Amino acid sequence: MQDKTLVCSDCGQEFAFTVREQEFYQEKGFENEPKRCPDCRRAKKQAGRQQFEITCADCGEKATVPFEPKGDGPLYCRECFSKHRDDEKGGSEVAEKEAA
Ligand SMILES: [Zn+2]
Ligand SMILES: [Zn+2]
Repeated sequence: MQDKTLVCSDCGQEFAFTVREQEFYQEKGFENEPKRCPDCRRAKKQAGRQQFEITCADCGEKATVPFEPKGDGPLYCRECFSKHRDDEKGGSEVAEKEAA
C-alpha cells in the first residue's frame, strides 16, 4: 500500500490519503475514499453543528449557541459567558494579569 493523492470535491485541492488512513478505512469497512481534504472535512463538521439563537441575559444582544436552550438558567453571548466564567474562577482581574 502507498499514499494516494486525491482531489477534494469541495475546494479542488489535492490531498494525501495516507496508508494509515487507508488502513483505518479498511478497518472500519468504509468502501469509499474520502471526498474532501482534512480542512474541508473539519469545516463541514463545524458547519453541520446546529446553532440556536438566544438573547443574552446580560447585555441583551442576540447570540447563537451550539446547543438547544432548555430554559434553565440564564444564557449569555460568548463575551458575557467568558466574563461570567472568569467571575466564577475568582475575578477577571486575575485572568487579565495572567494573560499580560
Ligand atoms: Zn478541500
Ligand atoms: Zn452578552
